[in-house]
Amino acid sequence: MTDQPLLSVRDFRLEFDTFDGVYRAIDGVNFDLIPGESLGIVGETGCGKSVTAKSILGLVPTPPARVVSGQILYNGEDLLTVGEERLRALRGVEIAMIFQDPMTYLNPVFTIGQQLVDVILAHQRWRPSEQRLNRAQARDHAIDMLSRVHLPNPERQLDAYPHQLSGGMRQRVLIAQALSGNPRLLIADEPTTALDVTIQAQILDLIAELMGEFDLSVILISHDLGVVASLCQRVVVMYAGQVVEDASVTRLFSEPGHPYTQGLLKAVPHPGRAASTLSGIPGTLPNLYDPPAGCRFQSRCAHAMPMCTTVPPLYAVADGQRVACHLHAPEASRAGVA
Ligand code: SF4
Repeated sequence: MTDQPLLSVRDFRLEFDTFDGVYRAIDGVNFDLIPGESLGIVGETGCGKSVTAKSILGLVPTPPARVVSGQILYNGEDLLTVGEERLRALRGVEIAMIFQDPMTYLNPVFTIGQQLVDVILAHQRWRPSEQRLNRAQARDHAIDMLSRVHLPNPERQLDAYPHQLSGGMRQRVLIAQALSGNPRLLIADEPTTALDVTIQAQILDLIAELMGEFDLSVILISHDLGVVASLCQRVVVMYAGQVVEDASVTRLFSEPGHPYTQGLLKAVPHPGRAASTLSGIPGTLPNLYDPPAGCRFQSRCAHAMPMCTTVPPLYAVADGQRVACHLHAPEASRAGVA
């Protein structure tokens, strides 16, 4: 692993123009992804994690969305300004994405083979002419990809329609499709949410295996800290369109720094923990049409203090952990404002 980021999201701000006003979905998001790293982005529904991930590939329609500021640097190239033609060349070949419900992203009237071969052929446009695959070679590549995601009888599965496969098998097909262009970065948006728990574990194991095989970096979007812990080395916690904590998985689970992260961890059930010790986070997400001044978590935070009406920066805590909470401000500045 090198320390030079493969992806850097810098001060990214994105708003939606709606009939009800301006919805401030993403507000100053910053994070890096190192080559070979698996990074989890967690947070509750509506926190902006999926919008951030889709923005990397230019998949958020503008309008109604509007990028207000920031950069999304992939290998030093700003994906927010490269234009649609360049994004098309990067999608699938450099950066690929899989989603929550595979059935939504597979066309029910075409066979798995037709869809996989079409995607493989679409990628050929961006390859040097002497390396381009013809249809027969693309079919062989499709069979190879299906066997690499451990789909049984891959050749026979080419003739199957999506409804003939189980949810786990369909997700394997989507992973095969996503990796068929040999990308360097895979973005997985809630890839196991629609699956049974046992199948979830298999899909996460498969992604971990393919990371080594394909030399992949992974961004895993999830609302489930358990899922993130089983695959990722580092976690970014988002709340109301902002990053509130960035830490290694080990550090986040042992020393969560932000009251919101602490609340998320208290809500995770696990064997041996009595149900009576689980607790939710009181309150709801703030209204992002008119977000509060200062810390966006203050209406739900048991530690809120006068200083919290100012925006907390990401304070460096320890071991690369950064926390956007004034509880981590130097003592002197806390005393000064409070
Ligand atoms: Fe709570 Fe203040 Fe920290 Fe926000 S900045 S999480 S309100 S203590």
